[in-house]
Amino acid sequence: MTDPRELYQQVILEHNKKPRNFGRLEPCTHRADGHNPLCGDRLELTLWVKDGVVEDVKFQGQGCAIDVASASLMTTAIKGKPLAEVERLGEQFRAMVRGELDPGRQPHDLGKLSMFQGVKDLPVRVKCAVLPWATLHSALQGEAIASTE
Ligand code: ZN
Repeated sequence: MTDPRELYQQVILEHNKKPRNFGRLEPCTHRADGHNPLCGDRLELTLWVKDGVVEDVKFQGQGCAIDVASASLMTTAIKGKPLAEVERLGEQFRAMVRGELDPGRQPHDLGKLSMFQGVKDLPVRVKCAVLPWATLHSALQGEAIASTE
């Protein structure tokens, strides 16, 4: 069996090298900027939401490997999903990286995103992993700037 940590590292490196949905949607229905001052991660998220479904999403910016991989995986996870499901995924993701949800023991819909469970053991990286989700939440709430505080 592959060591989950090794798999996690491979996925992070792979998404960092080839981020999915990288760029900017123009026009878009929702957008927000996210900034994590602790690490220096910055990203811009643009979405096209129609009839309560995320039809398209893109991100761009500069960040550490965990931030970029998290944003890349997030965009693949939410594309085509209804907003209620997207918000639930965000809540579950945040709970997981804070160690409040154990994807091995508790029910969840995280799928591949559960790869980030190891981040809970790296407290300085939690904000990097959460930044794309915080930015997504801001964009959907109509706030243009996200904060990881
Ligand atoms: Zn970072």
